[in-house]
Amino acid sequence: MPMQRMRELVDLLNKYAYAYYVLDDPIVADDEYDRLYDELVALETEFGMRYPDSPTLRVGGETLKAFAPYRHRERLYSLDKAKNIKEFEAFLERIRKALGYTPRLTLEQKFDGLTLSLTYKDGALVKGATRGDGEVGEDVTEQIKTIRTIPRRIDYTGIIEVQGEGIMRISEFDKYNKTAAVPLKNPRNGVAGAIRNLNPKVTAERNLDFFAYNVGYHDGKRFSSQEEIHEFLRQNGFLVSDVFYVVDDVAEAEKHLEEIEESRPTLDFLIDGAVFKVNDLGLREELGFTEKFPRWALAYKFQAMETTTILKDVVWQVSRTSKLNPLAILEPVDLMGVTVKRATLNNYSDIQRKDIKIGSRVLIRRSNDVIPEIMGVYQHGENSKEILPPIVCPACGSPVRKDNVFYYCTNDACAPKVISAIDHFASKACMDIEGLSEKTAEQLYNDLHIDSVDKLYTITAGQLKALEGFKDKKADNLISSINKSRKTTLSRFVFALGIPTIGKKAAKQLADRFRSIEALREATAEQIIEIPEFGGIMAENVVNFFKDEKNARLVDNLLSHIEIEAEEEPVTEGIFSGYTVVFTGVLTNYKRSEAQKLVTERGGKTADNINSSVNLVVAGEEAGSKLAKAQKLNIKIISEAEFIQMLNGN
Ligand code: NAD
Repeated sequence: MPMQRMRELVDLLNKYAYAYYVLDDPIVADDEYDRLYDELVALETEFGMRYPDSPTLRVGGETLKAFAPYRHRERLYSLDKAKNIKEFEAFLERIRKALGYTPRLTLEQKFDGLTLSLTYKDGALVKGATRGDGEVGEDVTEQIKTIRTIPRRIDYTGIIEVQGEGIMRISEFDKYNKTAAVPLKNPRNGVAGAIRNLNPKVTAERNLDFFAYNVGYHDGKRFSSQEEIHEFLRQNGFLVSDVFYVVDDVAEAEKHLEEIEESRPTLDFLIDGAVFKVNDLGLREELGFTEKFPRWALAYKFQAMETTTILKDVVWQVSRTSKLNPLAILEPVDLMGVTVKRATLNNYSDIQRKDIKIGSRVLIRRSNDVIPEIMGVYQHGENSKEILPPIVCPACGSPVRKDNVFYYCTNDACAPKVISAIDHFASKACMDIEGLSEKTAEQLYNDLHIDSVDKLYTITAGQLKALEGFKDKKADNLISSINKSRKTTLSRFVFALGIPTIGKKAAKQLADRFRSIEALREATAEQIIEIPEFGGIMAENVVNFFKDEKNARLVDNLLSHIEIEAEEEPVTEGIFSGYTVVFTGVLTNYKRSEAQKLVTERGGKTADNINSSVNLVVAGEEAGSKLAKAQKLNIKIISEAEFIQMLNGN
């Protein structure tokens, strides 16, 4: 019944598009919408017919009546899409057929925000409008005037429409969601909801930005290429992306596509692909438009980073610090090429704020972390039910304690806590006890009652040999690894203690600052907080850890088995002595961690964020909010090339 399916798809897609474009509150994720859309296109092509209300004939959605309608001087279009190189090559082939040869293309990031068109007259910003259906959009002039990166005046004095994308930076989105009563699901919803809001104050609060990428209607001036438009926009004070390539062939295109996709997790804004455009505007005229797309441009879509699925259950897992972490059990779903079955939920108050319920359809996103995060609810089901906070520890049944937004198991000997504490203690970056896996830790806990890490040093080869699966060699090897760990460094030891919020880097900084375990045990919060990037909570955690009687006993016991060797002297002198350096943006010659190492090896310190101790910023390509903050604070900023010159001693 292909016709029936076509009708069904048209209705379904129109319903989804209404929720997405008109209400700014989508019911399904983009990848699900795109799958159905592709199915409809395939059926329409096969049967050579389209329903008049098919979304394949239309750009965007209806405008909101609350806004005055604005007729664009020049129509705005959607973009044809490719999901792989084969589809990109098919696009090139269509162009080659039409023109007789393959022209030069430009390649830019595809910003994932809200399309906007700005009109300037006599150098002044006079109008801001959404795309709407491409011909008529909504007049959002007052709203867009709150966006700092939209210039109020430009040098060009004729009438001109500048097109681009309103975006909400990820850092702003995170900041907003930390305190928002109703958190935003993603930065795209954040920008669309803020601009299509009658109160410009709401728009202003979201700290939006605008990337300009095109010129629509313009009088007087003649542009000959996309390159020229890009440069014109930059010179007239618009924010344009530095990621802009001119490509001559598929190999070059593929190389830059890869670069853009790889940079995606490092950017402070969402991109959902890259856009190819024929560079020469004369050729564009020859190629023209379909009802919906220019024939001279193509959106190359990257894999979706978010999708939706049903939340089946929530379990509370005990961590090595006794904290109970909520873990979401999901109906398995494919995301970025892997099947996702679990996701993190942060904490109970986050669950409440996001109104997440068991049985609801939830939005999940993969970022840098392996395990995705639940961003919010898409739809509650008929039988959706509240998630309840834990009353007793699910592992040992002991009562739980609530501290701030977190729940903790009150039993120090709770099995999963002890086992993961042993696993952490033995890990490579800590005491490096080879052969002590999590599974072995579990066996030691269950069969030898090793319920704290100091007891590892009391185990005998005889005891191990009696365990299931332990032959002589395995037992001897483990004993020798344990013995090897009796000599260690201060930073390893501190990290191994598992002090809450003290990771590997912080442990090294503590070791460098205090130089001995005795000095560290005596350290005050005031002294600790002086270490760059150490906040009040971290300092307090360290002090409280050593103040706690049980921990003090544990450290004493450990020290009766372990000898802490002198740490390598931190380099104090070098070209970066006296500098605390922040790297921002994409570096072309180094990975960020490599560049940071080059600084610390030469006497400098590094930080991840701009704070009062930072006095040098190295800005790579695409530097965003950190660069802006550094400029505001008058911190010295250098380029990657200048950084290399410093390394070379200049
Ligand atoms: P699109 O957003 O995929 O592509 C066209 C838009 O790309 C242009 O309007 C422009 O604003 C933008 N763009 C970003 N960077 C650009 C650049 N450098 N140069 C030129 N343009 C650039 O297409 P569309 O027609 O606006 O929307 C369709 C998409 O919206 C679908 O693929 C789907 O993912 C999503 N959608 C989702 C739902 C849902 O329910 N989740 C519903 C409808 C549409």
